[in-house]
Amino acid sequence: MISRSLLLYLSEQEGLKDFAARFKLFKKLTTRFVAGENIEEAVEAIRLINQHGCTASFDHLNESVNDEAEATAETEEYLSVLARIDETGIKSNVSIKLSQFGLKIDPELAYRNAREIVRDAARRGNFVRVDMEGSDVTQATIDIFKRLRGEFGLNDVGIVLQSYLRRTMDDAHDLLQIPARIRICKGAYKEPAEVAFPDKKDVDDNYVRVMQLLLSSGTYHGVATHDPRMIEATIDYVRQNEIGKDAFEFQMLYGIRRDLQEKLAREGYNVRVYVPYGKHWYPYFMRRLAERPANIWFVMKNLVKG
Ligand SMILES: Cc1cc2nc3c(=O)[nH]c(=O)nc-3n(C[C@H](O)[C@H](O)[C@H](O)COP(=O)(O)OP(=O)(O)OC[C@H]3O[C@@H](n4cnc5c(N)ncnc54)[C@H](O)[C@@H]3O)c2cc1C
Repeated sequence: MISRSLLLYLSEQEGLKDFAARFKLFKKLTTRFVAGENIEEAVEAIRLINQHGCTASFDHLNESVNDEAEATAETEEYLSVLARIDETGIKSNVSIKLSQFGLKIDPELAYRNAREIVRDAARRGNFVRVDMEGSDVTQATIDIFKRLRGEFGLNDVGIVLQSYLRRTMDDAHDLLQIPARIRICKGAYKEPAEVAFPDKKDVDDNYVRVMQLLLSSGTYHGVATHDPRMIEATIDYVRQNEIGKDAFEFQMLYGIRRDLQEKLAREGYNVRVYVPYGKHWYPYFMRRLAERPANIWFVMKNLVKG
């Protein structure tokens, strides 16, 4: 049985990317989770998402930025995305990863690049979500977010917390003081037991507790999950506490549970679909397989046939 941890390990092996990309069919299968290789393909995907009553968030895939020039190119890509959102009138904001802007080279570089994006988004009345990455950069990400939030408004920039991390409840209390808009998700990286709950039950219990704290805060937050039990817990909680359907949004990934995305939108909930695009799809795609190892058999069967 191919395990989640093996798939997460493979997702970190950059060398396998080129090998995988050689299989045309493998690449074709990625289109289930990745909207395309360039902005225009992502725009078309978002138009369809909007037609089904959901909003979106652009995510340019590139987790292997190793020098300043690449970090600058990522910044320019996101400035183009923000301009394209205005030009096309699609309903979308953007999600960024600080490692794309140079976090692992120099945190000041990542801060300066992220600041440029947030400033442009704020000027356009749009919003930037700072994604959360591995636990080696959790504190650095929160620190940069707090600097950005100090300079820009609640509706200009937000952050992500992961319920698998033991520290997350404390971070949620801390960030709500500012206040800050938070996306709660379970967390997608391979983490040691010292920092993350190894048992799914603890991750889920923490998810529900953090979701309840966020939704009681009066700030607009994102509840990111495809887990029907987490969605049900959220709906139960808002009903019991008379929290409006417009006081928060559900968030899901492109290509995952589209039926559920559209159903929730029809029921009057705000639903945002996170739309990844770009040439560097490999680690993202492997993390999606890790979440549902059953999908690996589907991929392998098709590779063998191809
Ligand atoms: C909008 C959004 C943004 C995110 N941003 C981040 C981030 O910044 N940082 C980060 O670490 N992680 C991020 N994630 C990923 C997240 O942490 C989880 O890895 C991912 O969402 C899987 O967890 P889950 O809550 O969907 O439930 P899981 O516990 O993975 O799955 C529970 C149930 O959900 C359903 N399900 C899950 N996956 C699938 C699938 N592929 N196909 C069909 N059904 C499925 C199944 O019923 C499954 O039993 C984000 C996720 C979303 C939706």
